[in-house]
Order: sequence, then C-alpha cells, then structure tokens
Amino acid sequence: MAARCRSVTGMRGIAAVPSYVVMQPTTLCNLDCAYCYLPHRAADRRMPVPVAEAVAAAVTPWAARGRFSVVWHGGEPLAAGREHLAALIAAFPAGVEHHVQTNATLIDDAWCAFFAAHGVRVSVSVDGPAARNGDRVTRAGRPAYDRIVRGVAALRRHGLPFSALAVVSRPTPGLATELYDYFLDLGCDVLGLNIEETEGVNTRSNAHDAAAVTAFWAELVAAWRRAPRVHLREVEWSLRYAAAVLAGAEGDLLPRQLDPIPTIGYDGSVTVLSPELAGFTDARYGDFSSGNVLATPLAEILAGAAGTGWVGEFLTGVEACRSSCPYFGFCGGGHAANRYFEQGRFDGTETEHCRNSKIRLLEGVLEHARDHESPAD
Ligand code: SF4
Repeated sequence: MAARCRSVTGMRGIAAVPSYVVMQPTTLCNLDCAYCYLPHRAADRRMPVPVAEAVAAAVTPWAARGRFSVVWHGGEPLAAGREHLAALIAAFPAGVEHHVQTNATLIDDAWCAFFAAHGVRVSVSVDGPAARNGDRVTRAGRPAYDRIVRGVAALRRHGLPFSALAVVSRPTPGLATELYDYFLDLGCDVLGLNIEETEGVNTRSNAHDAAAVTAFWAELVAAWRRAPRVHLREVEWSLRYAAAVLAGAEGDLLPRQLDPIPTIGYDGSVTVLSPELAGFTDARYGDFSSGNVLATPLAEILAGAAGTGWVGEFLTGVEACRSSCPYFGFCGGGHAANRYFEQGRFDGTETEHCRNSKIRLLEGVLEHARDHESPAD
C-alpha cells in the first residue's frame, strides 16, 4: 500500500496561513510527569494580554475566512487561572474556536461553567486506568490519577463533551484493548494515543521491538471495530489513507503545504511546526524562534518562517523523506522536534518516533486487515 511517494505532491514549503495557533498562557504545570518534555514547567511565567492581542490581530482576518482554532496549551493552561485565561481569550474575535489541553486536575464546577461560557472544547491528558498512570505525579511525587478522574467527573456532571490523549510508554500485548475499553467507559468522544517520545527534557528511549508496536496498533483496531463509538484519531487517519490508496488518490491526501502551526510562547515568541522546540536553545540553531509578535506582526513572521535556519534544514529533510520513504504519502515527512531531539539535526529521515507512530501504525492496520480477511476474498 505504501508506495509511489515521489508522486505525492503535498507538503512543499510552509503555508502562509495556519489552521490553528497554539498559545502558552503560562509555563507552569502543577504536575511533574516523568515523560514531560517541557523545560520550564516549574516556573509561573504568564502570557501578558498584549501578546494575545497581537496574535488576535493576525487571527481576525484568517478566522473571517472560515474555521479557525486557538489551542491553549502549556504548561498546564488552567494554572494561569480563570480570570487571566478569560482576559487572554477576550482578545480574540467571536467565532474563533478555543480548545484547552489539560491534565484535568484543576477542573471543578467553576471551570466547567467557564468552559461552557467561553465555548472552550476540552482535551484531557490521562494514560488509562490508575495503574497505567504511574508517570503522572504531582510536584510532591504523589499519584495524580484521583485528581484527574475528579476533573473528568466534573466535565461529565456538566454534560461537557471532551477528548482524551494518552501516552503509551511501552506497547505490550493486551494494553491496546485495556486502554480502548477504559476510554469507552470514561466517556470521551475522541481519543488520541501517543507512543512516548524522546523529546525536550525527556531523554528516555523510545526504541521498541517493531513487532510489538505493530501488534499494539493491530490490537487497537480490533478493539475499536468491536465498539466503534469513540473517534480514534490514529485509526481514522490510517483508514482515510487506505481509502485514498484504493481510490488511486493517495498523492492528493496531504495538504499542499505544511501547516506552520505557530506556537506562541508566554513572552510572544513564535516557534513554527513543533511546539516541543519552544523554550530550547542550541548553539547551531539559536532559540528556534522565528520572531516575536510584540515586535513583528504574526503574518509577517510566518511569511518569513522558511528563512529561519533550522526550518530550511527541516524542509530539506521533508524532501529526503519524499524521495526515500514509501510511507511519505501517509506521514508527510515527520515532526521537526522528533528529528532534532533524536538526531540532533533536521534533515534526516526515519526516527524512532515515525517508526512507532506512522510506519508501524500503518503496518498494524494492515496486519489487522490481513488477519480478518475472509477466505473467500
Ligand atoms: S518521517 Fe519517517 S515515516 Fe514519515 S516520511 Fe519520513 S521516514 Fe517516512
């Protein structure tokens, strides 16, 4: 299935207009998860309102053309407090969709009322049942699970729909089924599963046995097919790709250009393509930022982003993927931060991350299809 990638036309250069922006209302997180990539999560550096106003000035014409999202990320975005988050949100025009990615530990009735009042869509980070959350701990090192499920219970009590995002540190037999059943019960309507990444200040290895990772994804598809009541992000991507291949349209599936996905740091600095690079510096690449919205309009920063040293190197890597990797039509060339943190540069190709989350994902879906092929086919 995964072939003919030279004919894939998308992902050439960086688009001038993003489909969403990521905002860091505070660097602080009230948890201290073992696999977290964030370098400054113990410090409470809050985004001043003028930063949000500067971003909103760029977003207003983009949002007028169609759907546009602002994703409040962290740190833990709720650690900024309701009053401050409300002041930041107020900078944006009506019609912009707001999302928060949260560890849920601070969610209570008052936060639920806030989400409802501001139309904020919630995504909760939780790794499955209590025993699977050993890495999610408070600053005092105590398990955070009970506080996470209290927050989720508040969302359910208020009838607020939510997504869930889980980190899988070690794919083992039986885990995919256990996780899928857990999230069915939890009541999320969308689920994303991330195999843990070696990224930022998390230096734990993400190299796994290939067959184990493929089997994990195949088992997940089987669990989902038994009760497909949750939108399962990775499986839906794979099925969309498979359908495009069968229709002979796999060359057209990827966007024409890379979405710049600007991450706006608390101080207004803009890092494109990979939120995980924000806050880091490197002797060769500097601080990875393409500018600051307090000094330069965001649209202008994005128009010049391809000229940022490391971004040009990454685009060379995307072309190397296009010419060498049979999975390019599905993947689109990988994630900048994974290349940097695994390989120390941006123009390489295959990473452990893309093996775990793209190559073996697609192989797992195919393995499931082969295992369930009817003998008559
Ligand atoms: S990042 Fe990995 S899977 Fe994606 S196109 Fe490049 S080599 Fe292929």
